[in-house]
Amino acid sequence: MSVADILRECGIVPTVPTTSPRVGTLQTLVASHVPTVPIVPTEKHKPRAQPLKSAPVSRGDRGRMRDALLALASGLGLDRAIVHRLTTADLVDCTGIPADALRAYLLMLDDIATRQAGKVPSSDSAAILCQHCGPVYVHPAIAACLPVVSGWPRALGCPWCFVRKAGGYIPSPPARATV
Ligand SMILES: [Zn+2]
Repeated sequence: MSVADILRECGIVPTVPTTSPRVGTLQTLVASHVPTVPIVPTEKHKPRAQPLKSAPVSRGDRGRMRDALLALASGLGLDRAIVHRLTTADLVDCTGIPADALRAYLLMLDDIATRQAGKVPSSDSAAILCQHCGPVYVHPAIAACLPVVSGWPRALGCPWCFVRKAGGYIPSPPARATV
């Protein structure tokens, strides 16, 4: 006994769906809505990228920028040498940047110079394990976002990697037994 027979015995007459005569015919394709494909712009239609044009910076402007950076460095108690080492291009790039951002830039330059001298920046109080350098000190904010394995925040690279590559000295935190 088929399912249809059982249904009929229960007073239910199954209806077999019939295929629309239009299915699969050319007429169906014509009648159905074919969404229009948005036109993807080709190279020709793309607007050309405009090169960044900065206003020309005169020698006097660069001098004023250096003076401003020196004043900021002095205000932060930083070694003024980090400003004197800046190139003309660096000074031009600083044009128009807010003072707060310039202070952060100078602090970063000071940290770099400190590491190059083989010393730990005062803000770098957290120990991590760099895959290349081994145990190093970094800022706690960096350590806080690293995955911790066997008690060590681990990184694939660190702020000391450039010192290592240059053959410089890296002061290491005491090694732990779990390394
Ligand atoms: Zn490293």
